[in-house]
This record gives sequence, C-alpha cells and structure tokens, in this order.
Amino acid sequence: MKNALAVTCVAVLAAGACATNPVTGQREYNLMSEAQEIQLGQDMDPQVRAEMGVYPDAGLQEYVQGVGMRLAKASERPDLPWRFAVVDVPAVNAFALPGGYIYITRGLLAHLDNEAELAGVLGHEIGHVTARHAARAYTRQTSVGIGAAVTSIFFPEAAPYAAAAQTGLGVLFLKYDRNQEVQSDSLGARYAAKEGWQPAGMEGVLETLGRISVTADRRGVPNWLATHPQPADRVAKVSADVEALAATRPAAEWTVNRDEYLKRLDGLMFGDNPREGLVRGREFIHPDMRFRLAFPEGWKIENGKEQVSARPAEIRDAMMTLELVPDAQGSSLEAVAASSMQKAGFTRLGGENTRINGIPAFVGVYDGRTKDGQAVRVRAAHIRLDGRVLLLAGIASETRYPQAERAFDASIRSFAPLDAAEAARIKPNRLGFTTVRRGDTWQGLAERTGGLIPASDLAVLNGSAPDTTPPEGQRVKIVIAGE
Ligand SMILES: [Zn+2]
Repeated sequence: MKNALAVTCVAVLAAGACATNPVTGQREYNLMSEAQEIQLGQDMDPQVRAEMGVYPDAGLQEYVQGVGMRLAKASERPDLPWRFAVVDVPAVNAFALPGGYIYITRGLLAHLDNEAELAGVLGHEIGHVTARHAARAYTRQTSVGIGAAVTSIFFPEAAPYAAAAQTGLGVLFLKYDRNQEVQSDSLGARYAAKEGWQPAGMEGVLETLGRISVTADRRGVPNWLATHPQPADRVAKVSADVEALAATRPAAEWTVNRDEYLKRLDGLMFGDNPREGLVRGREFIHPDMRFRLAFPEGWKIENGKEQVSARPAEIRDAMMTLELVPDAQGSSLEAVAASSMQKAGFTRLGGENTRINGIPAFVGVYDGRTKDGQAVRVRAAHIRLDGRVLLLAGIASETRYPQAERAFDASIRSFAPLDAAEAARIKPNRLGFTTVRRGDTWQGLAERTGGLIPASDLAVLNGSAPDTTPPEGQRVKIVIAGE
C-alpha cells in the first residue's frame, strides 16, 4: 500500500500536482500550485465583490483588515497576498478563496460580541486557506466538472447565494468536510492565541452559530444540520485546544476588546439593504427601482446583487429569477427578448406584447438546455420600467413545467409599480445600543426598542441563549429603525 501511494505521488509530482501541505507538512495530491491558488483568488475576488457588494464603511474595513493581517502573519503562510473584506450581506457567514482572500458578512459581524470572536472567525477562514482546504475543494469541484469558481463557507447552508452556484456566476459554495471544519476551528484558535486574543473567542462564535442555526431552522431555511457538523459538536471538539492555549498566559493578559469592538458596530446596517431590494414574506420590493412582485407561496427567495432567485423548498427542477437585461435600450421589447434569450441559447415557442399592471412587457415561452444538458422550458417576461429592461423568468424541467406554469404566470402578473410614498418609507434597520435595566427581559428589551426583531433573535444577537436574562447594567446591541 505504502509503495503504491509513494509511486502515485511521484508520478503526480512529475506533472506538478503534488504539494506539501503547509499545515500538516505532509505531501498530498493537489491540482493547484500556490501560484495557481493566488491567481484563482485574484481572478475571483472582483466577482465576489461585485456579487456581494463591499460594505461602505472604510473605517470598519480597515479595522477588519488589521485584525485579519495580524492573524495571517501568525499563520504558516504569512506571505500570501492576504485581503480581508466586509461584504454587504445580511446573512450570517464568512468565506475564503484560495490564495488568501477572506470575506465576512456584516450579518456575522453584527452577531459577534468582541474582537476575540472576530479573531476566531477570521482565523478559521485563514485556516481553510493555510491547510489548503479551499484549494482542495476547488480541485474536487473542477475534477467533477461542475463550476468555474470556489468559495468556502463558515456556516454552509445559510448561504445567501446558493442559486448563484447554478448560474454562470463565480460564487460557488463548496462544502468542507467535518474534519476540515474541526481543523480550521483549531487553527483559528491557535492563530488568535498567538497574537494575544483570548482563544475562547472561537467557542463564543461557535455557540452563537449554533443558536442561529436553531432560529434559522424554524424559519424554514434548508436544514444544514442534516449534512454538516453541528456547531455544538464543534465547540466540544475545539474546547480542549482552547483550554491548552488559554493556559499559556495568565487570564488577565488575553485581549478580548469588547467595548472597542462594539463601538465599531454602532450604526451598522442590519438585515436587508433596501437600496438593493428587500424580501418581505413572499414579496420582493425594490424601493430604488420602484417595483414589487410576489414569488410563489412558500418559495425561498435569495436576493443576490445581480440576480434575485426563488426556489420551492423541496423541488429541485424549478426556479424563478429576476435580473436586469444589459444593453437593452432603444430596441422594441420583442427584439430585446429575442436577442437576450437567443444569446442564452433558448428557442422561442411563442409570445406576445402585453401590459402587466400598466407596465409594458413581452411575455414568451422558450425551450432550451441547462449547462449539464437537461431540457428545460422557460416562461419569461421582459419588462420595461423607466428605460431599463428587467427579465422575470420561471424555469423548469420539461416534465415539471406543466405544473409550474401557473405559479410562474401568477408571479409575472404580480409585477407592479411601487408608489413614491411607500418607497420613501422603506429604510434599513441599524444596530444601536442600550443598557440593561433592572428587571429587563429579552422580550421587554425587544418591545422597548421598537420590536424590529423577535426577542429570541435579540438574545442571539447578543451572544446569549433566548431563555437567559440579560445582565443588569450590561451594554447590549439593539436593532433600531434607520433614518
Ligand atoms: Zn469553515
């Protein structure tokens, strides 16, 4: 066995594909050289930034970059071109690209309690890069021929852009296996401790993620617990490492920086950014572009930067998408529809010029194939609104289409203008702070501060279990209506 493996590795080495893992020091099969890892990260970073958006707060970006760089310099691969960015995404998540590109969502930042937890999250993602999990995931993915891109996630199934993985866009969501997650947790705690951050921050993060998974589950977000390591289990796994690391310094010498960290979060946008449209129940509302529409009942809506998509909870071969059609000015809607669908490889079966709630549209039915060759049928509306053309389409396999058609049509018919007064009323929520008074409960605090999020979410936002009592005198995060 051993010989056979050695031969394989040498043979692969000759082709330049066997490399030493920087963390374990062991040689392993990997399709990617370090130069390729860096190149891939460089190529994909602009796509990630375009799709997710960079949160517009230079001070916060600099702060996260600063914490991240200290951790990266303490890792086994200090010389990668490390870059850290806060992305303008409300979901709770963090990602890594091969080559050292790390992203944390504003949703996850909002849920952290202190700088030691931030160090834990960034250290974990750095671990996916240093241990080459990200590169390996990419290798695995390309070798089965699925996509052109890679990312990894801290919190896999709450990913906001799962649909993007099926479109041509670069952001795929690769899943790390349980051992890789546990290894990254341990590496994250180690890098943080090396730089003086309390290694228990890693446990705090995992506990918070565990609580979010419970609340997310209740809302019908896909159940990632079925296929992924439970954060609770990960806490148990990392706690021995954390204890050993914590024992290396007197307790008082560890950095936690709670007050400094929370100060950075003051005014942080929380939940959807209405400038990019927002999801309310089954409705998608866009106050800037001034329209609304309703997706089919019970479908899960994902609001990506370049595309909104909706899918049924349990059916895989039907979905709806909404996106802008580029370069669509001047020509008739029918001509725009013909060229945009033809470019995407679709053949028109029929269609008509019409008006949807007073807005001009061309609604057609098309046949085509997905990238993997599956025959699909599409009901697509090209809608002209204020000089722009939007494409609202329902896509289903040929067999699913007959039963999905009515739902597609109802959504298309629900597209309607949003009046100015209503658009002006829609503002983002933001993080603020209050001090817990004697007798306060999470319920009482939620009500006293406007009730913008449920009491249980408020507790989780503050790193606490919903059945606890907020400690009197403590400064806690609250969600307030934006101006
Ligand atoms: Zn991870």
